[in-house]
This record gives sequence, C-alpha cells and structure tokens, in this order.
Amino acid sequence: MLTWKDIINYSVKGNPLPDKRVEKTEEEWQDLLTPEQFRITRNKGTEAPHSGALCSSYETGKYSCICCETPLFDSTIKFNSGTGWPSFTQPIKENAIKYHKDTSFGMLRVEVMCNTCDAHLGHVFPDGPEPSGLRYCINSESMKIVKERVSDEQ
Ligand SMILES: [Zn+2]
Repeated sequence: MLTWKDIINYSVKGNPLPDKRVEKTEEEWQDLLTPEQFRITRNKGTEAPHSGALCSSYETGKYSCICCETPLFDSTIKFNSGTGWPSFTQPIKENAIKYHKDTSFGMLRVEVMCNTCDAHLGHVFPDGPEPSGLRYCINSESMKIVKERVSDEQ
C-alpha cells in the first residue's frame, strides 16, 4: 500500500516504470479527445467541482485513463470526499500513476498523471481516510469507467 512518504519519494526521486508507454502528438490527442478532455488531460486543466459525470457514480468497475485506456483506479477504493471530484485512496497498481511536484498558484501540491501517457489526472493529498491516509482527487473528464461484466452463468 502506498503512503504519503512513498508519494513524496516518487515526486522527488523519480517514478516507478510503467508497464508500457503511449506517446502521441498534440494533434493526435486533439483528434481522439473532446475539447474539455483535451484541456484537462493534455493542458493540465481542472473541471468545475461537482460537474463531473463520475463524481457521484459508485458503479462497480475500473476507472481507466480517457487517453490511453490504462486502468488507473478501482471502484472499491473510491470514496465520497465531499470535494466534488472523484476521490480514491490508492491507485489500482503501484506503477499506474506518476507523481510530479506542482508549485503552480503559489501552492505546493503533488500532481498525479497517467504513467503510461502522461495525461494530467488531478492531485493527491495526505488527508484521506485510513489506512493509506491518501486522497487522490481526480477529474472525471480524465477517466472512463469500464463496468464489470455480471455473469448469469450457474
Ligand atoms: Zn493514459
């Protein structure tokens, strides 16, 4: 389980290696994404709180990167933070996410990005619920939910 100390280490000393990399040009991303998705993921934008489609959704499934479809979070680690953005306590896999020290707007924060394609996802804060104490605050527009198939077989 990742803790705040691990996150700080990653943001200072370097991130874990991803399983694979997806790299595209600005134009290719623009063709793939809606303008709002492009603004947030490729230009580090933020959606308005409570605006995101995934904010109040608690359907079972995996949350994947909107850009490269790499699974990032699981619905079992989603929680209601009351902030207006989808919130998670852990990534689905330790190397799914990369961390970057963000000093914009005069604040010291840790930006989280997709480790596969560098899509901006949101930020992580050390004020989440136990046991990890982490709160990944993620834009809905950066992700899509891949619902789990319900099996009817006996
Ligand atoms: Zn990605």
